[in-house]
Amino acid sequence: MLRPRALMPEVPCRVTWRRNARARRVSLKIDPLEGCVIVTLPMRASAKSGLNLLHENAQWVTQHLRRIQPAEALSPGASVPVGDVPHEIIHAPQQRGPAVIAAGQLVVGGALEFLPRRVLDALRAEAGRRFLASATPHAAALEVRPRAIRVKDTRTRWGSCAPDGTLAFSWRLVMAPDWVLDYVVAHEVAHLRELNHSPRFWALVERLTPHHDAANAWLKREGPRLLRVGKATDA
Ligand SMILES: [Zn+2]
Repeated sequence: MLRPRALMPEVPCRVTWRRNARARRVSLKIDPLEGCVIVTLPMRASAKSGLNLLHENAQWVTQHLRRIQPAEALSPGASVPVGDVPHEIIHAPQQRGPAVIAAGQLVVGGALEFLPRRVLDALRAEAGRRFLASATPHAAALEVRPRAIRVKDTRTRWGSCAPDGTLAFSWRLVMAPDWVLDYVVAHEVAHLRELNHSPRFWALVERLTPHHDAANAWLKREGPRLLRVGKATDA
């Protein structure tokens, strides 16, 4: 039976189609980062079965997509968090040198067309400073020394520790509260002593920070929002 087409959301709804050899059935999932719904089809399922499922669940899809705020464009007057504190983006065309982050403002020089890039550069640089400032005392406390600290834009991991002692962090942590950034750094520094998640490892983390559970909960809740910053389309 063909159902009358349920109305797909009044909110713009992007659908990503995936074929998966291991999928047993057609399924729907919301991707909070991309702001779309993912339809996964087993190899032999018809596209129509996916469409049907989408239509049957139109209300669920709409509700979930509505909860995801679109990323705000990085433009003058917009706000970006630094250490969880909103900072207003100010365009100061005559200002030379890198953007300045101070007193609730992020002041960016140069031509307007380069402003989003420069905002991201400033946040990335600030992130690097904060990772170092946080890692230094933790490393001293555990008598270890990172080989290097790298600033990345990872999508699936906030931090990592390579076997050679190189630590890497997502610059986006600079937007999180200080204690969240500090927890992620402490976690990776502790891996310089224990490259595993054994009880001994967790005992080290606990020596460095009390924020394990709260920081994980914060990142789970707010992480997708941080990952969307700077990814605004012209919607
Ligand atoms: Zn770990």
